[in-house]
Amino acid sequence: MDLGLKDKVALVAASSRGLGKAAAMELAKEGCDVVITARGEEVLYNTAEEIRQATGRNILAVKADITVLADIDRLVQTALSHFQRIDILVTNAGGPRPGTFTDMSDQDWLAALELNLMSAIRLIERVLPGMRARRWGRIINITSIAVKQPLPKLILSNTARAGLVGMAKTLSEEVAAEGITVNNVCPGYSLTDRVRDIASTRAEREGKTIQEIIDEIAADIPARRLGRPEELAALIAFLASERAAYITGTTIQSDGGFIRSLL
Ligand code: NAD
Repeated sequence: MDLGLKDKVALVAASSRGLGKAAAMELAKEGCDVVITARGEEVLYNTAEEIRQATGRNILAVKADITVLADIDRLVQTALSHFQRIDILVTNAGGPRPGTFTDMSDQDWLAALELNLMSAIRLIERVLPGMRARRWGRIINITSIAVKQPLPKLILSNTARAGLVGMAKTLSEEVAAEGITVNNVCPGYSLTDRVRDIASTRAEREGKTIQEIIDEIAADIPARRLGRPEELAALIAFLASERAAYITGTTIQSDGGFIRSLL
């Protein structure tokens, strides 16, 4: 299937590793030039080189912390002066602190909203005017299965991401007639470095191997395995494509069947 993505320009936030990196790689494989960003320079530049080598596309790496307003401004300005436009925006971030309601301070709540809600809003604010002017755009937010089924002891994530889905659904209606789609993707448990780190900490605490912990997680998933980052990336590439022009305002999971609800 030709996704019609050749020579489009994509900005993928929080993309030096994990799901963001996989999305950047997939979009580049489909012919996009891509702007990637993260806080740590070394991994970011290595990732940019890896995607360039694999795809031959123009990959711009911009060091930025997406919780810092000035960094978001600089990121988008640098991307626009390099490529003149951003056709596809994939918002993403790290995960907030785990814990329950009583574990959280006022500062923890605000930090989670900055990381998992405001970063996406601020990026969209800066990229949307260009999409409106060209009457074409794709906004895809990487959220979590937590927006369909809140996960225990992840109250910050459950809260901030629900806000993002509310914003995205409302925005999708506001821009639908202008050729711009807004969708959310919900990764289930995916085997990224972050999940490997979590499994490794749990393995040490419980005196088990990392594989045993991963098998325990997989036992709760109908597919009986964790997701591969490329599987979420394939969904993102499709939603970014010309083929998905009529899909907007949706929140779609890629989770091996983890969410049991009908909708
Ligand atoms: P990851 O830790 O492997 O990658 C996160 C990326 O974000 C890295 O490139 C990191 O450098 C970057 N980043 C983090 N904070 C940043 C900041 N303030 N500014 C700029 N860049 C920043 O994580 P992942 O597993 O790829 O997860 C990505 C998102 O998806 C997270 O929000 C996570 O909670 C969510 N999620 C992941 C899973 C999973 O199983 N992997 C499941 C559901 C939801």
